[in-house]
Amino acid sequence: MFNLSRYFSTVSFILIVMAAGVLGPLYRVLSIQQMTELAEHRNVAMAQVFESFLGSPLASLMSASLGRDAAFLKNSVESEQLRGSVAALMRNTSVVKVKIYSRIGVTVFSSDSAQLGEDKLKNPGFRSAMSGKVLSELTHRNTINTFEGERSDIDVLSSYVPIVNKDGSIEGVFELYQDVSPFVSQLERSLWWVTACVFAVFMALYLLQFLVVRRAQGILEEQEGRIKAARDTLEIQVDARTEELRRANTQLKAEISERRQAESKLNYLAYHDPLTGLANRRCFIERLEESLRESGRHAQQLAVLFIDLDQFKQVNDSLGHGVGDELLVAVAARLSEHVRLIDMLARLGGDEFICLMEAVRSEDEVAVLAREIIAAFELPFGLGEHELFLSASIGISLFPGDAQGMVDLMRNADTAMYRAKAIGRGQYHFYTPEMTRDAKERIRMETLLRRALDNGELSVHLQPQVDTRSERLVGAEALLRWNSPELGQVMPSRFIPLAEESGIIIPLGNWVLRETCRQVMQWRRSGFDLPQVSVNLSVKQLERPEFIETLGNILDETGMDAHCLKLELTESVVMGVGDAHGLLQRLRDFGISLALDDFGTGYSSLSYLKMLPVQQLKIDQSFVTGIGRNSDDEAIIRTVMELATSLNFEVVAEGVETVEQAEFLAKLGCQQLQGYLHGKAVAPDEFRARWALPL
Ligand code: C2E
Ligand code: MG
Ligand code: MG
Repeated sequence: MFNLSRYFSTVSFILIVMAAGVLGPLYRVLSIQQMTELAEHRNVAMAQVFESFLGSPLASLMSASLGRDAAFLKNSVESEQLRGSVAALMRNTSVVKVKIYSRIGVTVFSSDSAQLGEDKLKNPGFRSAMSGKVLSELTHRNTINTFEGERSDIDVLSSYVPIVNKDGSIEGVFELYQDVSPFVSQLERSLWWVTACVFAVFMALYLLQFLVVRRAQGILEEQEGRIKAARDTLEIQVDARTEELRRANTQLKAEISERRQAESKLNYLAYHDPLTGLANRRCFIERLEESLRESGRHAQQLAVLFIDLDQFKQVNDSLGHGVGDELLVAVAARLSEHVRLIDMLARLGGDEFICLMEAVRSEDEVAVLAREIIAAFELPFGLGEHELFLSASIGISLFPGDAQGMVDLMRNADTAMYRAKAIGRGQYHFYTPEMTRDAKERIRMETLLRRALDNGELSVHLQPQVDTRSERLVGAEALLRWNSPELGQVMPSRFIPLAEESGIIIPLGNWVLRETCRQVMQWRRSGFDLPQVSVNLSVKQLERPEFIETLGNILDETGMDAHCLKLELTESVVMGVGDAHGLLQRLRDFGISLALDDFGTGYSSLSYLKMLPVQQLKIDQSFVTGIGRNSDDEAIIRTVMELATSLNFEVVAEGVETVEQAEFLAKLGCQQLQGYLHGKAVAPDEFRARWALPL
């Protein structure tokens, strides 16, 4: 830190010395000047005294000396007279020597006679006096000749004073030597005192200020200490804060990059299917909208192809979702690799894929693409130990022909895909406007069907099943009927597939089951005992985890004897259910009989069938219709009969309309017949009226 005391001490000391050094001499100069002035006045006064007292001897000497030499002046009478007068005047005064110069600068009188006759014409004092001005000079003389003899170590003030005549002219010059030694020594003493006092005052001042400064320095040092401590604390705080900020900054950076990553991941996820990595629905929609705008602007066609895998559900159900997912990934990869003409491929969800073809020139071009997609499924998909054969159904809709907007275009492709599926597996179909009409009709029917159950528009009809030989009633099949106020009588072939698709089949099927059991039990209580009743069961019902419980409840509620109940399942239903064997066994555990409906239309493996707890096969009516007309149908019936006999299945033939058909079947050993020959499905009252034995 800047040392204030030291700085102050040094500067003050220098200033004091300088002040003392300047003030002392200044005082001396001023004092000498004053003293000189006083002494000069005294000399002038003395000169006037001399002049008035020495008037005539002086005038005579002046005139006598003109043109004379020094010897004359020493020995002249005038000179002697003057000497005596001057000595008398000088006595008891401080004037120690007097010299008189004539107008021409000759020393005409001097206390020291050796100086007589000296030329002083060029002397500045003389010249000044001759011009009327007094000039004085203070000098220190080691020795000087005075009237009273030689004196040593003396301070004298010599003044040149003009001798003025009465007419104002200057006659000559006096030089008076005044002894000022007492004044000078007095002056020297006071000078010493003054210097000492000044020095002492300055020193006192210095000390006082030094104390103040030192105190100030102390305060400053104290303040500095505090400031330093505060600064240190501040520095520590600043360091800590800096570190904190650095850490926060690092954290912030990490967070920002994490967020960016998350954002880009989110962005990726927002537009991609996480399983297959293909574009997702949103991505496809945005691209399609863009393509539609472009195609509209350039008057181009584009096609949307809706792809649905045909047997994916079975794979998922039988091999698990893991394999299902692997399969979807493999399908996505194969489609991406092998199909050349696709402009964009996306997965909409589940087993639905969609693709876009831009700048379409003709329908044929789209058909080529569709065939290419279908061909991509020709080779099996190898997933670990499994080798799976799969096919896809494709629905196609075109812009601008089939629809103008994105939503309609996609919906039409979806509708066309359903039609393709309806034709058979591995097919493609272009959209037609009738499909929309059908679809609308289906939607209307679906709405009406939902209402039908609550409105009591549904009823259960019963169709007799008779023993082939005795023709006695052995059972009946419960068949659902819908009498709609809007649509009239609607046959199950129209509304059952719709109910299955929409899921309405579940409440509907359960209602049929309950209603049938209730009816049979009511008959039994009133004396009409139907030996057995068959109820059709949809795969959707069977798939519900709570189905067994519901079934148990229905049996409990209605009091139905499970042994009198038969459930009909189609071949494909049984094949499509995951754990078919386990499920059917649980039904069997109730005591319920099981029949395979529409037998022969599916492609069931016989060895698999044998393992199922099924008791009855129902030969499909399409084969029965062929009896007597189609040898192939007859051959199939024979084979089924042989198989059933050897595997110990009971056989029912459905759709038996003629005696010929009945006889053919009887010959082959078919146990039961069902068909218009013995009766159509009719309302319960009518059924009872026809089949109840008269009491
Ligand atoms: P299905 O189970 O094979 O029923 C036999 C069908 O053949 C019935 O048609 C019946 O009326 C008809 N049929 C019977 N004998 C003859 C005949 O001699 N000649 C002709 N041409 N037809 C005959 P329906 O009632 O129209 O039922 C059609 C299908 O609807 C049934 O086929 C069944 O799969 C389904 N279904 C009917 N009711 C229900 C139900 O309550 N639940 C379920 N899940 N499906 C039902
Ligand atoms: Mg049936
Ligand atoms: Mg059938």
